[in-house]
Amino acid sequence: MTVQVETAEGLSGRLDAVKARISAAAVGAGRPAEAVDLVAISKTQPDERISAALAAGQRLFGENRVQEARAHWAARREMMQDLELHLVGPLQTNKVRDAVALFDVIQTLDRPKLAAHLAREFDRVGRQLRCFIQVNTGEEPQKAGVLPADIDNFVAECRTLGLPLVGLMCIPPAGEPAPPHFMFLREIAARNGLTGLSMGMSADFEAATELGATHVRVGTGVFGPRVTGAS
Ligand SMILES: *Cc1c(COP(=O)(O)O)cnc(C)c1O
Repeated sequence: MTVQVETAEGLSGRLDAVKARISAAAVGAGRPAEAVDLVAISKTQPDERISAALAAGQRLFGENRVQEARAHWAARREMMQDLELHLVGPLQTNKVRDAVALFDVIQTLDRPKLAAHLAREFDRVGRQLRCFIQVNTGEEPQKAGVLPADIDNFVAECRTLGLPLVGLMCIPPAGEPAPPHFMFLREIAARNGLTGLSMGMSADFEAATELGATHVRVGTGVFGPRVTGAS
């Protein structure tokens, strides 16, 4: 075998270590450890690592591509009642139907056209997925997410459509300190009456936890280095 695969024990130890660090950061900030959900980001990971994470008890996962998520999760979904799957990558409107069929939560709602498509699809299937709005806190031209100046209007628009908004999500610019972005996201959420905050990845999930994250998205920290086409 050319791909280096970790043992199930290795993965379970890593998962426990990440959970312990989240708990310590939460408690250190005066928050209950249960206030923070660990979303294990399984994109590009070999199947046996996903099986190992499931064997270790992890049930909450995130993926950034609809097609790959189906390959990882469609069959497991049939067999496991308690899985929770979050989409954390950009969603094209032509993938909305597939995404709604597979996921429980959309973390990357980022434009009016997508909001309208989601509302229509939720109606059609009679099932609503909880949504986070992605905010482009660094105002990076190449990055998805609603610009900070537009966010209050977009929240109102999503509410008018009846979408079940639960919070905001951000991916801070690479190479910049993340905490100011986390604080900014928290402030935008508070003034819009949103309580969910999806922020923090492998490099900064403790800082995010201290600043109020309700969901941290940890990939390599749980699974080890991504094997193919990491993004
Ligand atoms: C890949 C990814 C993550 C996880 O990144 P790590 O650095 O591996 O923890 C988190 N959020 C999003 C949106 C991602 O695409």
